[in-house]
Amino acid sequence: MSFPRTLGELRQSPFSEQRLQTRRVKDEMRDNLMDKLRAGGPIFPGIVGYEDTVIPQVVNALLSRHNFILLGLRGQAKSRLLRALTTLLDPQIPYVAGCEIHDNPYAPICRRCRDLVAERGDKLEIAYLTPEDRFVEKLATPDVTIADLIGDIDPIKAARGGHQLSSEMTVHYGLLPRANRCIFAINELPDLAGKIQVGLFNIMQEGDVQIKGYPIRLPLDVAMVFSANPEDYTARGKIITPLKDRIGSEIRTHYPATVEEGIAITAQEAWTQRDGFKLHVPKYVQEVIEGIAFAAREDKKIDKRSGVSQRLPISCTENVISNAERRAVRGKEQMVVPRISDIYAALPAITGKLELEYEGEMKGADHVGRELIRTAIARTYDEYFSGVNMQQVVQWFDLGGEIQVTDSASAAEVLKALHPIQGLVEKLVKVGVGPKDAPEVQVSAAEFVLEGLHAHKRIGRNEERVFRAGEKQPKHSDKPFEREEPPFRGRRPYN
Ligand SMILES: [Zn+2]
Repeated sequence: MSFPRTLGELRQSPFSEQRLQTRRVKDEMRDNLMDKLRAGGPIFPGIVGYEDTVIPQVVNALLSRHNFILLGLRGQAKSRLLRALTTLLDPQIPYVAGCEIHDNPYAPICRRCRDLVAERGDKLEIAYLTPEDRFVEKLATPDVTIADLIGDIDPIKAARGGHQLSSEMTVHYGLLPRANRCIFAINELPDLAGKIQVGLFNIMQEGDVQIKGYPIRLPLDVAMVFSANPEDYTARGKIITPLKDRIGSEIRTHYPATVEEGIAITAQEAWTQRDGFKLHVPKYVQEVIEGIAFAAREDKKIDKRSGVSQRLPISCTENVISNAERRAVRGKEQMVVPRISDIYAALPAITGKLELEYEGEMKGADHVGRELIRTAIARTYDEYFSGVNMQQVVQWFDLGGEIQVTDSASAAEVLKALHPIQGLVEKLVKVGVGPKDAPEVQVSAAEFVLEGLHAHKRIGRNEERVFRAGEKQPKHSDKPFEREEPPFRGRRPYN
């Protein structure tokens, strides 16, 4: 790499004064975004489900050179999307070497650098920033101070340099000045105290600010982006009006619109590629896990204001695979194939992510979690088996049959025990599983059917995971969701 190392060299390089003098961060992002739009393809690779909703609005905000805010519930990839903005920054930008606020060599704003330019002229030393260096992030909390965010007068600095306390040379810079020529992201903006919001607004609007009563001029070049919970943001008095006015675009984020989209995000984020084992996560297991988040988002026992993060299915998937791994290691099995019982075993990865309303609190997180899993199982089961006659299987239990399927039982062992249940194994074709598949795969699919029947209360299951006859129900609700065999409504094939 032979980047110019002095101001003199810089002038003769592609980083010319003409190009850099007026190229502010927002211009730079706009230019690079334009190039991306011309090139076609995704603007923010890895952000799933926002292609037609959030991303076009973010693009418009950037083209408009707006400061903008993402409004959304937790776990909607807000921080991730803000971080992805760094992909719109130049690969390198030059700044005055040693400057705490990365001054533009052609237009330094700090006193130190202005003095240095005057003293050294074209011999002024130049350093470079990469996009990763240029993203500053702060989680707003009520105890953030002006000193944290903007800066403080440093009496020691003043004494050592023989400066007046009011001199710019005595300022110890806070986060915002250090984000000069960068993207500055503040998460949960409404948690910032009113006084700090005023300071922020002054910097954005006027380029000056008072620190301990001393006016300090700081015409910073910062792309400000924010995130907030929508209810907090719109609540009266949480955000001072002039600051709200300076935020050019308000963009709403959302949870995945479909289970398929949720699965795509979870598959991308969850840690699943582990060494040692051949892993096969059946599609219905993924659908049930994702379905838990969907069911939770509509459940009135769960707080709507805080939402249900996409991190729920992500952590749950990781825990489900771990439980299956544990079984495979213990049973010396060849393949790791998660089962529905592994989802129940993953409750610790679920309960912590649910903010319960009063009614939920009364029942307890564990109970609510189990209910959600059961709801998700019932829905997923219907996707595959709606219209399939399971009477034969149910009858086997009604006639006194019992089978225990613990989450630690090895596949070979369970498969043997499953064989007497007539009509069960043939039905697995609906999830794409046949008698030639590995025992681990067959057992997982068969257990899904049993769990589905249990979720619909057609068979019973006790705490030791013994499936048995259900409590007798009145005749009319005997077959709530099935007809005699096909015509089978087109469910897409497995795979
Ligand atoms: Zn400087």
